[in-house]
Amino acid sequence: MFWDQESETLTRPTIEQLQLKRLQNTVERVAQRVPFYRDKFTKLGIVPADIKSLADVRLLPFTTGADLRTIYPEGMLAVDRDEPVRLHTSSGTTGKPKAIFFSRKDVENAAELVARSLVMTGITRKDVLQNMMSYGLFTGGLVMHYGAEKVGCLVIPSGPGTSERQLMLMQDLRSTAVHILPSYALYFASFLEHKGIDPRKDLSVRKAFVGAEPHTEETRRRIEQIFGCDVYNSYGLTEMNGPGTAFECEHKAGMHLWEDNFILEIINPATGEPLPEGQTGELVMTTLNREAMPILRYRTRDITSVIPGPCKCGRTHRRIARFTGRSDDMLIIRGVNIFPQQIERVLMSFQQVGRNYVIIVEGLDDLTVRVELAAAGFDGQVEHVAALQKQLVEKLKAETYVRPKVDLLPAGSLPVAEGKAKRVIDKRSL
Ligand code: AMP
Ligand code: ZN
Repeated sequence: MFWDQESETLTRPTIEQLQLKRLQNTVERVAQRVPFYRDKFTKLGIVPADIKSLADVRLLPFTTGADLRTIYPEGMLAVDRDEPVRLHTSSGTTGKPKAIFFSRKDVENAAELVARSLVMTGITRKDVLQNMMSYGLFTGGLVMHYGAEKVGCLVIPSGPGTSERQLMLMQDLRSTAVHILPSYALYFASFLEHKGIDPRKDLSVRKAFVGAEPHTEETRRRIEQIFGCDVYNSYGLTEMNGPGTAFECEHKAGMHLWEDNFILEIINPATGEPLPEGQTGELVMTTLNREAMPILRYRTRDITSVIPGPCKCGRTHRRIARFTGRSDDMLIIRGVNIFPQQIERVLMSFQQVGRNYVIIVEGLDDLTVRVELAAAGFDGQVEHVAALQKQLVEKLKAETYVRPKVDLLPAGSLPVAEGKAKRVIDKRSL
């Protein structure tokens, strides 16, 4: 099923022609209207006419999260101040956020990409989508909402409300799909278990769109098993409109990134040099269809690779692999590089392990993994807990090359964040 079959199945040469034309337009516009880019072009000694082929994108400067904070709030607008109709900000932890402005056309276009993405998973106007992401500055609420409305779904804007209310709405309105944080999906599963609700029998949810934070294939499988539904990986970042940047199709084999709207590059994060197709590195994106605030070569910090070859669904937009982490999430422990996802993968592969965990690094690079036990299916006998702990230590050591301390805790004892989960506490940097 397609939302916009023509755009979704453009031939490669057509995509590339369109990308070049849109890139040239974008560069021309920012050179005229955005002093931030004009100055950068002058420093690099380039003019818009230098962009003669797609490969010339490499002549352009990178834009970083720090740049967006420096020009905060309006320094990168390419339209008059009264043109934008919407503001979103990226979930920064400290200091000024990154402010992204949308014109009316940008709002419309973002909804269009979400509509493509949802329909690609089989969503139709008959679906009832419960959007359990926060409504507000975060794009996960409104941008997803507008896209699903466009498809014609009934959208329940439940936001990050209490689990009781989520459940009530889910049952009363027979929600068939949810948009949810993976960490919250696991927490919500425990809540349902506690209430004696079997999601497979007692709920109508058949599809879950899961994103906004890193998660592993093991976590996807767990959510699928618990809810008896299909889980699709959804990637979005405010700088690129939010949800609908890249999304899995029915085949769940990597996320199609909408290349008529974004140029994608994978670079070596240390050198900034492009990597050959298929290699893993940092995703860099350039907007091609943004009116209010075009962004050139945005350093996402997200680590992925392009999946070579065509997808069975017939869409020609290339796919990116599940993220292995963010380059700024990487922990260096006793000289070894570790991504939190490596730890999650091990934890979620154990049946006896529950659904919430936190990684603590402190002192002289001591790694502690605090994880909840499963509420059901584990007897909790002392010798069994000790054996599990030992197995976890060995498996984690084999995966990360660092021997961690593992604390096993009763189900439900770790705190749950309202927004994105905070999985790592690095006390060394406090
Ligand atoms: P925000 O702009 O606040 O929505 O945050 C965007 C960031 O969330 C991205 O740069 C990623 O680091 C992360 N993110 C979003 N979706 C996913 C996903 N499906 N898998 C992993 N990380 C994600
Ligand atoms: Zn596909």
